Amino acid sequence: MLNQLNRHCKRSLLLTFWLMASVCTSTPIALAADDAEKISGEQRSEDVAQLPRPVGVSSSLPTTIDGLSFNGYGQLVIQASRAVAYRSSLDLANNTYNFTIPATRISSQLRRPILGSNSPIEQIRLNQVGDAVVVSVKTIAGWQIRETVRTNPQIIALLLNSVRQVPASIPINIPSNTRSQIQPSYGNINGRQLVAIDAGHGGPDVGATRNGIYEKDIALAISKQLGRILQQMGYAVVYTRTEDIDLDLEPRVQIAENARASAFVSVHVNSLDANASQVNGVETYHAPSASLGKNLAELVHQQIIASTGANDRGVRSARFHVIIKTSMPAILVETGFITNPSEASRLVSGAYQERMAEAIAKGVDQFLKSYRR
Ligand code: ZN
Repeated sequence: MLNQLNRHCKRSLLLTFWLMASVCTSTPIALAADDAEKISGEQRSEDVAQLPRPVGVSSSLPTTIDGLSFNGYGQLVIQASRAVAYRSSLDLANNTYNFTIPATRISSQLRRPILGSNSPIEQIRLNQVGDAVVVSVKTIAGWQIRETVRTNPQIIALLLNSVRQVPASIPINIPSNTRSQIQPSYGNINGRQLVAIDAGHGGPDVGATRNGIYEKDIALAISKQLGRILQQMGYAVVYTRTEDIDLDLEPRVQIAENARASAFVSVHVNSLDANASQVNGVETYHAPSASLGKNLAELVHQQIIASTGANDRGVRSARFHVIIKTSMPAILVETGFITNPSEASRLVSGAYQERMAEAIAKGVDQFLKSYRR
């Protein structure tokens, strides 16, 4: 029963695990049809060829800014053709971060990401200013960009953080003495506990689907609400993804590990075959024989059932990759069945998503308060 009822998630998670090993580092980014509009702010210098060659560059080819993309670690990455230095500044009034990269030019083959309607990034502009490229990234209100420690001099990786109503603001600069290879240890900043939030699926992996509704979208919407609410409660959060991107399972685990998260919450939506459309309700999973994970699952599950009135399908254990590989207490919430018409209509409602997120946050809060040392 368990296997059958959760066939979707197990299958897709396992498939994802096995098939996508090479995908997460090279997520292909196609240009949207309306991308020209977003590029409109870009002023590619016409006479860039006449610019003096940057000092210290031995090749006759100038260093180019080749693209911006979201990587498998939830970061916006600026890719250059060679090692580059940069400086950053924040235009607080406009929520715009400017990254000035000297001695570079904009590639004529510039790649840039599609910005979804719910993207925390409102606009990305590139300007050639003398011999420097200035990349300006404007976030929506409540979102902040943080620089990460550079492990590859050809890339500048920027982390997107939701900071709405967080009492202690997170500094933009990260100490450069961290030894983390993938991501700096930005967890548990200022003594705050950090929660890793994992929106299931993403990109071409839509998850469960019915009538044009995708699990990946519901999971992301609930996850963002969850992060916002946890931050209002005073927690730091890290998201495995904030965009509709393809993301392997192992990077999701690594994001939580590198952030030294105190708890991990993966958000999913369940599905069954058409002949079982009457089945509905919430299931909360922990890893087998994980007592803290089970405790977290129980607290979250109780809150969800009490708050949403959803059918109680119980706290269960299963060997989902993201909850068995994470070292901190970890749960996976199946927030409802997309294959049940009335539950599906609730799951796509913003009010229900928020109620679900609030309930999960309450359970996480109860858990972390009871285990705080
Ligand atoms: Zn799923």
